[in-house]
Amino acid sequence: MDTPKQDTHGIVVANLDASVKPGDDFSQYTNGGWIKRTEIPPDRGGVGVFTRLSDLSDKRTVGLIEEAARAHAPAGSSVRKIGALYNSYMDEAAIEAKGLMPLRPHLDAIAAIQNKGELARALGESLRSDVDALNNTNFHTPNLFGLWVAPGFNDSEHYAAYLLQGGLQLPDREYYLADNDRMRDIRTKYQAHISTMLKLAGFADTDVRAEHVLELEHAIAEKHISLADSEDIHKANNTWKQADFAANAPGLDWAEYFRGASLRKQTSFIVWQPSAFTGESALVASTSLDTWRDWLAFHLIEAYAGVLPKAFDDERFAFFGKILSGTPEQRPRWKRGVELVNGLLGDAVGQIYAQRYFPPEAKAEAQAMVANIIAAFRKRIEALSWMDPATKAEAQAKLTTLYVGIGYPETWRDYSAYDVKADGIFGNVWRAGLFAYHHDVARLGLPIDRHEWSMTPQTVNAVNLPLQNALNFPAAILQPPFFDPQAPAAANYGAIGSVIGHEISHTFDTEGSAFDSKGRVRNWWTDADLAHFHAATARLATQYDTYKPFPDLAVNGKQTLGEDIADVAGIAAAYDGYLASLGGKTAPTQDGFSGDQQFFIAFGQNWGSKSREAALRRRVLTDPHAPAEFRADTVRNIDAWYSTFDVKPGEKLYLAPADRVRIW
Ligand SMILES: [Zn+2]
Repeated sequence: MDTPKQDTHGIVVANLDASVKPGDDFSQYTNGGWIKRTEIPPDRGGVGVFTRLSDLSDKRTVGLIEEAARAHAPAGSSVRKIGALYNSYMDEAAIEAKGLMPLRPHLDAIAAIQNKGELARALGESLRSDVDALNNTNFHTPNLFGLWVAPGFNDSEHYAAYLLQGGLQLPDREYYLADNDRMRDIRTKYQAHISTMLKLAGFADTDVRAEHVLELEHAIAEKHISLADSEDIHKANNTWKQADFAANAPGLDWAEYFRGASLRKQTSFIVWQPSAFTGESALVASTSLDTWRDWLAFHLIEAYAGVLPKAFDDERFAFFGKILSGTPEQRPRWKRGVELVNGLLGDAVGQIYAQRYFPPEAKAEAQAMVANIIAAFRKRIEALSWMDPATKAEAQAKLTTLYVGIGYPETWRDYSAYDVKADGIFGNVWRAGLFAYHHDVARLGLPIDRHEWSMTPQTVNAVNLPLQNALNFPAAILQPPFFDPQAPAAANYGAIGSVIGHEISHTFDTEGSAFDSKGRVRNWWTDADLAHFHAATARLATQYDTYKPFPDLAVNGKQTLGEDIADVAGIAAAYDGYLASLGGKTAPTQDGFSGDQQFFIAFGQNWGSKSREAALRRRVLTDPHAPAEFRADTVRNIDAWYSTFDVKPGEKLYLAPADRVRIW
């Protein structure tokens, strides 16, 4: 009914560009036809397989939400909350009628801050559990710091409190520090945006205030460490007792901060970027109270702009959508409503979604593929000549204890403590942030649930959870073109199989090698193993450094290394799993393409993608993944790809056998 029109199963021949040699540009060869006939919709920064499936998932989800709204479910039930939350977001007339009223008490509280102690308290009150360093990898929070509650680095059986750097509205410190015309232009426009937002909220002298807010954020950016450094967990395992903060990071009144954050009883924290905490804390002391109050007010307005009157929402989009991502139009309100409900009541929606859209047969078939790919990894590890036997044994143990979640979680989050009320969307969003925060804080020190998911079933993505030694493959990615029970095995293994292989390989990569089979931080590699691994992966980083999406901007091979390794390993293991699934038989051809050709084309078609320039530039600076076209081209590291497409020296992607990077 709402499934995309699917006349054929397997690779999409109409998306190929046969005029391009696979060995010259595999991305263009597999997706050129699609790229030629595809326009980026005006409400998107880019388009690809993931956004197409997200659109489908959104359509399905809005149907479920509308059903929930009509269901007259009992008061207090999740179904009732889904409908009420969505409707409160969609009620634009009520939002306009309330105007600034919902914001007023919070702005008044900021204006009433009299001294740095009260400031510290307010900064603590703004702390949310809105970052995630290892699972969904989100290192960004506009609050001064961000909290992540996850299994402990030093005690993986219990939940620990991780604190991460924050305080910036722009996506990364580069936006503040980079010395080039493009970024200078963004900063000028950002300052104008700050001024406009403050003016809309009734502030006077907003040009001067905006200048000071930007100066403060610039100073914070100077204290931040880079994304590539943040990704290095060996730099992140810094335990600070609560009593240590005053000495390690003087400036901020930490006792007041933790009181505001309801964390006074938490004795121990893992501080991800210690130098940033020292630097940002000092700025609390050295920067004027006036500037901090304006910074707090602006950050509050920005955080809630999407649920304030249209003037705020439009101004926020004009800067963050148009200027930062190059997107001409805001997405339709219903789509943003779906995103909001997914964000705040994701499991409640997901439970219905999984029941409706993920049949047990699909689950069984996906589980069979996972088993084949894990078996392929076992053989690959056993065959490695460079790895020490003890290291191999721990790698195999990690595969044995790996929890692979397919489709949906075993248990669902309880939303009974979250009130969706008739006071409107602002209050509903405000309470949701606190509900999620207190849910996480309440778990500190408790035993972990290794089977807990970090993605909802309606999310088009997949994830490795290193501290739980677990993987999640949500229902919404387990559908065509990634996974189609009616497609040939070659296409399924090339498409979703390589994604499965990618996630499994994170279990062993630079990140996974730091966690043992119980999720403990324990280096289970010998020095010689690590030396080999670093040498091999350094070559991959160098390979990616040569990719230039724009003449003045190259991929940062160090920043994307973990994901690039996973891509290479993922194809290799999926290819083995695919061969094993044939059981010695020859794969059926499709439209004249051999099984092996289908396998690699299906892989390349995962990465069919088109981006606006601003959005792609932002990605290169802030995403641990390389841009899509280079992910498709990484087949150049796989021997079987050369024979499959008869790739010869002189073709652009050709690498001599010695230059192909083999890791697993
Ligand atoms: Zn990954």
